[in-house]
Amino acid sequence: MYDNEVSLTPGMRHYIQKNKEYLDQRTEYIRSVVKKWKFDTIAVHGLYSVQDAIEDYQGSIIEPIFMSTSQAFRDSDEMAAALAYLIPSWTYSRIANPSTYYYEWTLALLEGYGFDGETSCCSTSSGMAAIMTAVQPFLMHIRHNTNESRNFLATAQCYGGTFQQFNVRLAQERDIECRWIEDPTNLDEWASKIDENTRFLYGELPSNPQLGFFDIRAVADLAHAHNLPLIVDSTVATPALLRPICHGADLVVQSSTKTLSSSGFGICGGVIARKGIVTSIPNEQLKNDFALYIKYLPNRDYGPNLHPMQAITTLNDMRTLRSKVDLMSRNTMRVAGYLEEHPMVESVQYLGLRNHPLHELASRYLWLVDAEHDDLYGKPVNRYGHLMSFCVRGGVEKTRKVFDGLQRIWRATDLGRIKSVATIPAISTHQQQGEEGRRLAHIPSNLIRLCVGAEHPDDIIADLDQALHQAR
Ligand SMILES: *Cc1c(COP(=O)(O)O)cnc(C)c1O
Repeated sequence: MYDNEVSLTPGMRHYIQKNKEYLDQRTEYIRSVVKKWKFDTIAVHGLYSVQDAIEDYQGSIIEPIFMSTSQAFRDSDEMAAALAYLIPSWTYSRIANPSTYYYEWTLALLEGYGFDGETSCCSTSSGMAAIMTAVQPFLMHIRHNTNESRNFLATAQCYGGTFQQFNVRLAQERDIECRWIEDPTNLDEWASKIDENTRFLYGELPSNPQLGFFDIRAVADLAHAHNLPLIVDSTVATPALLRPICHGADLVVQSSTKTLSSSGFGICGGVIARKGIVTSIPNEQLKNDFALYIKYLPNRDYGPNLHPMQAITTLNDMRTLRSKVDLMSRNTMRVAGYLEEHPMVESVQYLGLRNHPLHELASRYLWLVDAEHDDLYGKPVNRYGHLMSFCVRGGVEKTRKVFDGLQRIWRATDLGRIKSVATIPAISTHQQQGEEGRRLAHIPSNLIRLCVGAEHPDDIIADLDQALHQAR
């Protein structure tokens, strides 16, 4: 993994040998135990075992919160081996930490649930940091001392922060062309925008806030035919509903801030990669284990690392992911059904509604994980998450009136919460990208984004009902 040649002392060889046994045991434990568990069991335990607890953490049943900058070593040999990444160690919290380690493994295993190959994860300080650190390595200059032109493709319907990162930070400031895909269900549009300078394909789905969707398998196949990776922002779906790596994606980025940690305690992200990604970048480490590569090299040097306290609070939230996403999806379906019938509502966008143009496509991909092993269902069931939006009849003013009339639903630029939250994207999350950017992303000014939480849906419907009534 390391850039430099390292000469080994006998002491270093001793540590490497000792740790090889540990690594072999871990690989075997994952293969023969963890990979056989159901989704919920992985979410609850991840890689933290009774053995880990007893041997290393005084029996603590909860993963350690190691609020410590750095690790002490037995001697210079162990230090040299650790710093050359020759033995598993955590060294310094900008590079690794026992708390972030357990968070990373759980996320890697959940995104890799049902996938034949291996997955790994690099934690990041936020969802935006996950996106930045996932795309940057593909933008490196391959030919030196040339004015090499570089471009990438991305779905125009995406999170406002992503739009700004691609459009301003990369395109305007660094002259790296972002080719927006306006209709991601149209494979010809993707295909026509790829050329020899394209570095990756990027897609968000379901997109925030307008619930864009695309055929992951088809776009992944197209990317791979050009020796390019497909990166998917799967924040809204979470691995409880969709695992893009199982459908051919190379990398997944998560804003774990959102649905993965519904409690809302803090900002957190992750990049999850399958081992052996497809790319034209001539770097074997990057290809073989992308997440480990960014963790050990670029992210060590840039430092967008996750705090151990936040890693464990997020990990703790993730334990009940499947049942929470199921509940919040069902609640959202109820609320969407209510809004659809309301005379003051112009339109409702929710992938679960039969008349949504992307309902059929989304239904091929969005399944509640393990529903077939659940007493309640006993068969596969579709669930569509808890992001929806609706347009209010009567323009911006009426829209603001409805919004301002909400009493139980929180007005905030947030989503994925256990509490229902609403926002008007045109004046908040998608304000900065301007009118043209919003047109590209299909965001009208009378659109309210609503994320339904775990309250009883009757109470959320009652709140919407009084707000709509007031605004008449
Ligand atoms: C919020 C969000 C992000 C950014 O995540 P942060 O954790 O806020 O940095 C990226 N993608 C999507 C879809 C989001 O909703």
